[in-house]
Amino acid sequence: MASLWVNCVKKRLKKPRDSRVHQDVVIITGDAKEFMEGYINQVQEKEHYYFRPPVCPRQDYYYYGCDRGNHSAGKSNGEASKTRANSCKAYISFKVITDTGISGAIIQKMQHHTGHDENNSKEKNRIHPDLHSLVKIWLQLGWSTSEVLIKSYDWAQQNGHVDKKDSRFYLTPNDIRLLKKTLRGVGDSDSVSVDHLVSTELRDNICFYQPLHNEQPFILVVQTPFQKQLLEENPHPMVFMDASYKGITAYGYAFYALLLINKTGRGVPFAYFILSKETTTTVSLCLQKLQLSNPSFYLRSVMMDRDLRVLNAMKSIFPNAKLLLCWFHVLQAVTRWLVKADGGHLTPEQRNVVIHAMASMKACLTVLYLYF
Ligand SMILES: [Zn+2]
Repeated sequence: MASLWVNCVKKRLKKPRDSRVHQDVVIITGDAKEFMEGYINQVQEKEHYYFRPPVCPRQDYYYYGCDRGNHSAGKSNGEASKTRANSCKAYISFKVITDTGISGAIIQKMQHHTGHDENNSKEKNRIHPDLHSLVKIWLQLGWSTSEVLIKSYDWAQQNGHVDKKDSRFYLTPNDIRLLKKTLRGVGDSDSVSVDHLVSTELRDNICFYQPLHNEQPFILVVQTPFQKQLLEENPHPMVFMDASYKGITAYGYAFYALLLINKTGRGVPFAYFILSKETTTTVSLCLQKLQLSNPSFYLRSVMMDRDLRVLNAMKSIFPNAKLLLCWFHVLQAVTRWLVKADGGHLTPEQRNVVIHAMASMKACLTVLYLYF
């Protein structure tokens, strides 16, 4: 019966376009998640290639990318002895299916690892599993990066590992920071629960959703029915827009709120953007999707900080809108510049003059545009 089922599923499979991709169909008797974890662990132990926590871009589809799948940036040039980011495209994916009462998975394996070779000991090797689990515990206890660094150094010494260049036993602060990020960051469960919530309970509040997948950034445009109606009542508003990083700091994501002034003179949010990557393209995409789902919406003017990415996104989607810099942000930038070491080396008296000049500028009624 089982083999019949497997053959039946296999027959219906499309041949992968990439000839390096190997397909298989297996029956799952227990919990699908446990099965996938077990499978990945086995490959890791056997082949010494490691995979990242899964992402779930589609329902019941789980993608485990190679641990060295990130693009390298900075000095390392992607050299495997200096970085773990080798743009490796190897992966294992599972599509969990249930048909005629039987559960199974279609497994796709692309095991052509590029840019690295886990058997080469000179490569920047992953942290020893024992130390890895210890560091995880220490981080969960809320220890700081430097505390973990000292503790892991002691551990390596006590366990007789003397070569301080051995990255399996001697961590860098950056190793710990990265671990912290993966620990608190978008783990399997987070990404899966967001995916689930967006497509079920919160469906009516989502204007646009792009799941996190490989190089594709996470984008969420949120607008509740109430907010939609608010925007319908004020289709050409003056918009106030700003980003915050608190609240979702653990993920390193940006949270944008867009506000308009309602009839009683209060600022009310009418949409939110959550972005894993802030670029002119991602912000433009959010604005575009918001405009598409609110056809009568066209903003008259927008008040924001001097973030060039947002500024350029605004210009491209709403070319006729007036762009205003928020006074608070202008003053904040001036004040920050003044207290910085390279802030013109002004004396306290001179600083006062600058602040006074800024204050009187605010009282100006006319505007002189300067183009650079
Ligand atoms: Zn790889």
